[in-house]
Amino acid sequence: MREQTADVIVVGAGNAAFCAALAARERGAKVLMLEAAPEEESGGNSRFTAGSIRVAYDGVDDIKTLVPDLTPAEIETTDFGAYTTAQFFDDMARVSQHRADPDLVEALVKQSFATLDWMRQNGVRLIPIYGRQAFKVDGRFKFWGGLTIEAVGGGPGLIAMLTAAAGRCGIEVRYRSRAVDLLYDGSRVGGVRVRPDGRTEELRAGAVVLACGGFEANTEWRTRYLGPGWDLAKVRGSRYNTGDGIRMALDIGASPRGNWSGCHAVQWEMNAPEFGDLAVGDQFQKHSYPFGILVNATGTRFVDEGADFRNYTYAKYGRVVLEQPGQFAWQVFDRKVKHLLRDEYKIRQITKVTANSIGEFAQKLEGVNAAEFVRTVAEWNAAVCTDVPFNPNIKDGRCTKGLAIDKSNWANTLDVPPFEGYAVTCGVTFTFGGLRIDTDAAVLSIDHRPISRLYAAGELIGGLFYFNYPGGTGLMSGAVFGRIAGYSAANACVRRRSARSNTR
Ligand SMILES: Cc1cc2nc3c(=O)[nH]c(=O)nc-3n(C[C@H](O)[C@H](O)[C@H](O)COP(=O)(O)OP(=O)(O)OC[C@H]3O[C@@H](n4cnc5c(N)ncnc54)[C@H](O)[C@@H]3O)c2cc1C
Repeated sequence: MREQTADVIVVGAGNAAFCAALAARERGAKVLMLEAAPEEESGGNSRFTAGSIRVAYDGVDDIKTLVPDLTPAEIETTDFGAYTTAQFFDDMARVSQHRADPDLVEALVKQSFATLDWMRQNGVRLIPIYGRQAFKVDGRFKFWGGLTIEAVGGGPGLIAMLTAAAGRCGIEVRYRSRAVDLLYDGSRVGGVRVRPDGRTEELRAGAVVLACGGFEANTEWRTRYLGPGWDLAKVRGSRYNTGDGIRMALDIGASPRGNWSGCHAVQWEMNAPEFGDLAVGDQFQKHSYPFGILVNATGTRFVDEGADFRNYTYAKYGRVVLEQPGQFAWQVFDRKVKHLLRDEYKIRQITKVTANSIGEFAQKLEGVNAAEFVRTVAEWNAAVCTDVPFNPNIKDGRCTKGLAIDKSNWANTLDVPPFEGYAVTCGVTFTFGGLRIDTDAAVLSIDHRPISRLYAAGELIGGLFYFNYPGGTGLMSGAVFGRIAGYSAANACVRRRSARSNTR
């Protein structure tokens, strides 16, 4: 028999892959990680994130466990509330229109806290997301939308801390090593075929974990599966996630699962490059739209900007913008809400216009029917229920009444100059369709039986996300199923070793 390179090979080096590798190592396996990108571009989409991670917790004591250096002053001035497993479960069911697999959701939700605490024990430092997820009202911060924790240093910090953790326990990461095929003898997976620097090599292992992302960076697959127009979307993150892991597994008879025509896509700077730029990270996104209005080329509104908290609408509104004429929209705000705009509105790489009157502003909104826009604003201002107090921390019910498309919350008149407009298009984050796994993260065959020694985690699993997504769940899903996949893969190797020694 050919010698094994490692007990467990993990394909990818993003969050899910590192969690799988650390878990397998913890169970005593020798682990090798293979990453397609060169080291300077590695870390996948995980490195592009803000590092915000959705976790179920019961109150401030749980937050103190995850963030041991939380100061008494922070505790005093903050209402962390709670985000229970029941709420997390309900959010997943609601936003997926009850299609998410309940067993996978249960594993995700119930293991979220323990997994995040395990990451902390492995050296991932965490803090509350004061900047983006809490507004200060009456001297006190209040967290909203079930998203309270982020990794120190955001996505780059998370990847740096996970890379350091892997290094500390002797896990090797080979960069510029794109896995192209699984070694499969018809009954079990025994390694991968890899192409480092244009050569082809076979690497044998006791088990393989696929954690190499979705197909969002593959223009042809996007068009094929998401549909016409998706070739025109910008890719928010890594250009290396081209669906290889999914293809490799399907090639050996794995079962596809989930919302193959669906994806996570947001409003993204109109003139952003084709793929993500690590120097800008996630800052091309424009997520403060709940406090303004969105108009398209016809000068009219097309969506309820305040249908829910940003965390529950942002991932589906990219698609809505893609469907507009010319695949663009303008987000419009006035001075009253300017202080609520997130940091990403202050970057240099932005398509922005300002003006002191609506008439002048309308002329500056490139590609927009100016006369229609002026009419839209007049109707809008007359429809806002100004008697309901505005409160960004809650779904305040400050709506419009009588418009063709009403806004449900946070409606404000547009009447205090300067007016500001930001041009956005659709940025695709990751795809929802993927591989069928069980709750041990084993990849299932078309007969729905585990493919021996093959596991998967992260973006490339199907069955969790449909239509929409609760913010911060991607990292948590990668962490939970990555950890499970790592343990399962290591256990499979141990079982194999003991079976071999018993037959000697
Ligand atoms: C701009 C942006 C912001 C985001 N913000 C958040 C956030 O704040 N919170 C959150 O929860 N989620 C966020 N997400 C979503 C989140 O990034 C993903 O859900 C999560 O990071 C996926 O992790 P992963 O490990 O599955 O994939 P990735 O992190 O993308 O890792 C996949 C890795 O596999 C490698 N790879 C691909 N093909 C091969 C191959 N054939 N061989 C070897 N290696 C290969 C890639 O190079 C990559 O390193 C964001 C995404 C983007 C793009």
